[in-house]
Amino acid sequence: MRILITNDDGIYSPGIAALARAATRFGEVRIVAPDVEQSSMGHAITHSKPLSYKKSPIVFEGIDAWRVNGTPADCATLGSHLWENVDVVLSGINMGPNLGNSMWHSGTLAGAKQAVLLGMKGIALSIPVGKTEPDFAALEPYVVEVLEELLPREGRCLYNVNFPHEAPAGVKWTRQSVRQYDGHVMPIKDPFGRELYWITVAPLEAAEENTDRWAIEQGYTSITPLRLDLTSETELEKELG
Ligand code: MN
Repeated sequence: MRILITNDDGIYSPGIAALARAATRFGEVRIVAPDVEQSSMGHAITHSKPLSYKKSPIVFEGIDAWRVNGTPADCATLGSHLWENVDVVLSGINMGPNLGNSMWHSGTLAGAKQAVLLGMKGIALSIPVGKTEPDFAALEPYVVEVLEELLPREGRCLYNVNFPHEAPAGVKWTRQSVRQYDGHVMPIKDPFGRELYWITVAPLEAAEENTDRWAIEQGYTSITPLRLDLTSETELEKELG
């Protein structure tokens, strides 16, 4: 199996090293990731300028790693163009959760979505970062467990996986939590007294049972199967009669 690995935190993130290490037991692994952080870039692609593809002989012992001056979606596209017959793109492990509405701006998920658009399988993996960084060595058996479950599945499937910060109590299959969130704008001043703004994103409502947010709050690993068709079936049925 050919496994292409990308992320949105950039090629130097400890999360991508942890994912690559876990993936090596399932097949051939290559890393193609953004050269700098691309978090919250969503499914952006670079079409107005060329992309570079540079070998990164860094900490990935025995694994070819390449850095790209583009987005996670660019990395999935370029990586699978230059390395033929890729079966699956794994994106992550993101340093921060990608739950509920975060899926809309997640660069991590976009790497996996782009894989599905191109005819491959895509799996996004994320973990919350609390006051301490995630213990990726302790997480590895849980990553392997999820990959054992998802990698053999047939077809152009798309999965969004989130791990809890502490050792998971188990795995729950969930749906995406779609609730209102704040998009709050916080003004601050720069050292010269000029106005700047931070945009924050926090959920306004409690998580519904059996959703991704709920599973993480309960200490479980969440796996949400996704599809790319955004059509509202109910609205369409109403219009078509
Ligand atoms: Mn990120």
